[in-house]
Amino acid sequence: MTEPERWFPSHIKEIPEEDCRELLATQEVGRVAYSVGDGRAPVVVPVNYTMEGDALLLRLGPNSNIAHHLQSTPASFEIDDYETYNQSGWSVLARGHARWVEAADHPAAERLLPWAEGKRTLVVLLEIQELTGRRLLSA
Ligand SMILES: Cc1cc2nc3c(=O)[nH]c(=O)nc-3n(C[C@H](O)[C@H](O)[C@H](O)COP(=O)(O)OP(=O)(O)OC[C@H]3O[C@@H](n4cnc5c(N)ncnc54)[C@H](O)[C@@H]3O)c2cc1C
Repeated sequence: MTEPERWFPSHIKEIPEEDCRELLATQEVGRVAYSVGDGRAPVVVPVNYTMEGDALLLRLGPNSNIAHHLQSTPASFEIDDYETYNQSGWSVLARGHARWVEAADHPAAERLLPWAEGKRTLVVLLEIQELTGRRLLSA
């Protein structure tokens, strides 16, 4: 059976690194992805974040599974936005290394107020090693 023909109304364009950084500064929620190391597929969950220089700060529950896995590990962070009506959008992917840090050493973490209820006192710094983005432009 042949594939039905599809019309692609948008084309894809690279977003320069500096613009990716600016887009990161515009959002409050992104998806952090990490491996749990037991042969199962990676976990990807939404969290609030803020920027600290070129790095990202997260605030997590100190006894949560996510915190346990982000103690010191490679991790990725993704944000995106899109418009359904004209099938356009963009996404930014930050790949790097996450580690626990002392909240007192990172004052920006105090301004970060996670939307999720509960105690989110553990601060994770995600240092970005690779920052890329793509924009789908409406034709
Ligand atoms: C908009 C938004 C913002 C959030 N911001 C923060 C934040 O800043 N800080 C914070 O600590 N948490 C935040 N959360 C909650 C976060 O996504 C996790 O659910 C939470 O951190 C619990 O993690 P855990 O590893 O302890 O979960 P567990 O309950 O131990 O997770 C067990 C399993 O449940 C599933 N699971 C857990 N969470 C989710 C999820 N969100 N979506 C789908 N499946 C899930 C996964 O399969 C996971 O392996 C936010 C959630 C949303 C929707």
